[in-house]
Amino acid sequence: MASKHHPTPLSGGNRKALTKELARAPAVTTILAARSAEKRAAGEDLIREADDLLCESWNERMWADGGPVDPSPSIDQAINAGYPWLEIKCSRCMTPRAVDLAALPHVATTHVHDLTGRLRCQKCRKVGKRPTAELLQLRQRSPTGDES
Ligand SMILES: [Zn+2]
Repeated sequence: MASKHHPTPLSGGNRKALTKELARAPAVTTILAARSAEKRAAGEDLIREADDLLCESWNERMWADGGPVDPSPSIDQAINAGYPWLEIKCSRCMTPRAVDLAALPHVATTHVHDLTGRLRCQKCRKVGKRPTAELLQLRQRSPTGDES
């Protein structure tokens, strides 16, 4: 790559210093890029930790009180935290189901509680009913071995 034009300093000392700085530039570039990558990785670890705490907090509330479901983590936060499964049951026939959040088409702003009205029970649909889903827990693994 052609080096950028730097105006030649008038004094010999400054010319030497400029030459030295330009020689160091590739090494400095590499060091700064590596530090940036380290900071980004550390930041991503912290975000994952925050997402994990949010999922645990939601699970705790659902376990202890059964709700309210809102606020809840976003689907992307749950997946990022390693909780890609949502355990639900039909509010009418009580049939349990595990939903694979990663396989669910969603936009970045979709939160877990937004799914209450979206996840319909197949059994009840067959008899013309459209009950809402009762959200139970976020899981790291499929609780039933179901595929959404
Ligand atoms: Zn049902």
